[in-house]
Amino acid sequence: MSMNTQEIINIEEQYGAHNYHPLDVVIERAKGIWVWDVDGRKYMDCLAAYSAVNQGHCHPRIVNALKEQAEKVTLTSRAFRNAQLPFLCKELCELTGYEMVLPMNSGAEAVETALKAVRKWGYKVKGVPEYKAEIIACTNNFAGRTISIISFSTEAQYKDGFGPFTEGFKIVEFGNTKALQDAITSNTVGFLVEPIQGEGGVIIPPDGYLKEAYDICRTNNVLMIADEIQSGLGRAGKLFAYEYEGIKPDVVTIGKALSGGCYPVSAVLSSKEVLGVFKPGDHGSTFGGNPLGAAVAREAIKVLIEENLIENSYNLGKYFLEKLKSIQSKHIKEVRGKGLFIGVELKPEAKGARRFCEALKDKGILCKETHENVIRFAPPLVITKDDIDWAFPKIEEVLKMD
Ligand SMILES: *Cc1c(COP(=O)(O)O)cnc(C)c1O
Repeated sequence: MSMNTQEIINIEEQYGAHNYHPLDVVIERAKGIWVWDVDGRKYMDCLAAYSAVNQGHCHPRIVNALKEQAEKVTLTSRAFRNAQLPFLCKELCELTGYEMVLPMNSGAEAVETALKAVRKWGYKVKGVPEYKAEIIACTNNFAGRTISIISFSTEAQYKDGFGPFTEGFKIVEFGNTKALQDAITSNTVGFLVEPIQGEGGVIIPPDGYLKEAYDICRTNNVLMIADEIQSGLGRAGKLFAYEYEGIKPDVVTIGKALSGGCYPVSAVLSSKEVLGVFKPGDHGSTFGGNPLGAAVAREAIKVLIEENLIENSYNLGKYFLEKLKSIQSKHIKEVRGKGLFIGVELKPEAKGARRFCEALKDKGILCKETHENVIRFAPPLVITKDDIDWAFPKIEEVLKMD
């Protein structure tokens, strides 16, 4: 006998740790931009698993790659080689113009790996005195939940109760190149930045910021690390959001949509000079670079390119953004976005974005509030104009409620 929504929620509440506050919809299956709950209700997914399912839920080609590889070999560990990883690395390098790839699983692991690479580069290549390396991060950043990563978070809740923290990080204001310039010392090895801050509330820095920051890094022999785990792989209307500023960061982290949501796969992209600092035994992961994940990621990347999802994100993002901007609502403070990476920021008087997300859910649209006052619209990139036209009147009605 199948259980209803409330019964299943009760089980999770009793047995699962409460480290999330999900909307009370229990999803049972999904296809493209649509998900269905256990009571048979259908919803448009406007979160896309924080941009991990850019290719749409259960994309047939990616699911097929998963199934085929699952029947061949799933895990070899890196003690042995496998016949998928080399091709994933090669295809990623050819697509992005980087020289080397280091595969991991979660986004946080990719960021940790990038931080380790940049520190080691600092000692081995730049010549920073032992264990004096400094990495600069931005206010309002999000890069995952490990202890080292939360060590440079500016969000009190992410740190509360989790100290002592990792040393060697400095914080500068996001969007402020003067602050970056002033924070750099001869021991600075890296500058970690999200080209668009996702968890921070879809915050887009001023035009020219990334280019200027990049030039400052260049001048000071500091590596720029772009965390494209959420903003990359088509989400912001380009393969990488940094492309809007015509730069090529020294190090890039990717994850989320790298597997189309079918498997945890992340990676660090960089030069031989940087990733070459790793020698056998320096760093690793039992599952990192496994053939199942690699086969899935190869197909997920092909789908992204061959189905023109990046262009679709660019074009329909513009369309969706203009429509959202046309809404006359006393609650809206600002509507902003690039590609299908859109945030609607509400005024403080609106009493939080959560109640709007609940109301959208009741109309068949799943969104999640970010930072109290922002509703993020980031549907799978397979969305069509008709889908947006279906959702728009509902969104408008919800944003106009009292
Ligand atoms: C989600 C995210 C991460 C962390 O990814 P996980 O897979 O959740 O560890 C890191 N950086 C950015 C920008 C993200 O959005």
